[in-house]
Amino acid sequence: MSTDVILKAEGLTKRFGGGGFLAKAPVVQAVSDIALEVRRGETFAIVGESGCGKSTLARLLMRLLEPTAGQVTFDGQDISHVAGAGLTRLRRDMQFIFQDPFSSLNPRMTVGKLIGEPLEVHAPELTAHERRRKVAELLQQVGLPAEHANRYPHEFSGGQRQRIGIARALASGPKLIIGDEPVSALDVSVQAQVINLLGDLSRDLGLTLVIIAHDLGVIRHMSDRVAVMYLGRIVEMGTAAEVFDQPRHPYTQALLASIPAPRGAEEARPQLTGEMPSPSAPPSGCAFHTRCPHATPACSAAIPAPVRVSDSGHSVACHRWADIPAPEGQATPPARSEQAEARFALYRAALAGAEVQYAEP
Ligand code: SF4
Repeated sequence: MSTDVILKAEGLTKRFGGGGFLAKAPVVQAVSDIALEVRRGETFAIVGESGCGKSTLARLLMRLLEPTAGQVTFDGQDISHVAGAGLTRLRRDMQFIFQDPFSSLNPRMTVGKLIGEPLEVHAPELTAHERRRKVAELLQQVGLPAEHANRYPHEFSGGQRQRIGIARALASGPKLIIGDEPVSALDVSVQAQVINLLGDLSRDLGLTLVIIAHDLGVIRHMSDRVAVMYLGRIVEMGTAAEVFDQPRHPYTQALLASIPAPRGAEEARPQLTGEMPSPSAPPSGCAFHTRCPHATPACSAAIPAPVRVSDSGHSVACHRWADIPAPEGQATPPARSEQAEARFALYRAALAGAEVQYAEP
């Protein structure tokens, strides 16, 4: 494994059902044969519609779930079936930020207790006084006053609760943080602040981030590389510029075309139509063939293997990728609705280092 790779998945597969007390339940193939590498210090995004398996993949990478097949390697060690003390060490080095900042914090604990709890587990040598000082430092690091340690979660806004969740994730001094839709439950006006914070922390602390999201606007502006998932498989992977400006898979092209456009512009762009099939009864061959405008009978015969289409590692899993050019003019972002334009402006301002106003409770 190359030394700059911190997280690697090979043949990673997860099936639910079909055994034990779920023997009569239909088998759900949530994640199939995933291969990816996350480089140290980068922000790696996993995107797709809901139900595509991206959250299951995140939990497999975190070892919150055990794989049915395949392997996950973290910092050079196979963690696929790690348990006991090895799992405790892994929890210190790899942390998770949950989607919902309202339900992920215990309402009966003060913020100081919530952030101090992982310190008690992973840094038992700290005295109570040192722990309180560390909690104050972590709060300041995420843009909250140290005095907030004595308050309870319900006294904070959504954005502030997500900051508390981030401080809690940082407490153990992790090397990698996985965020499952970390801003999707927040108001648009707060999303850029939290994205900006994650970007700052990643840069300042040398953190690696894996971000799961369905909002392509979020991904475009914060990720170095992107993997696009459809029905449990990665269908396209590359740098953010490759995937957004030169998408080669029909599904990626349709996802990008689904970004809101002004009235009247939709007809000119291919839209994603139909429902995603059930993972308990996936279509044969390329699972996207039931919705793909380029499908031929051959597409339903065999599952397409990922093919490298550029020297930088841009890969596409489509039998017909060579016949399907990137949409013309895709390098220029498509026209957007007023609301989407406002959100993009916010992201751009935040990423350009504009002063961030943190919301008060
Ligand atoms: Fe479409 Fe066929 Fe490519 Fe699948 S393999 S994305 S059905 S063209």
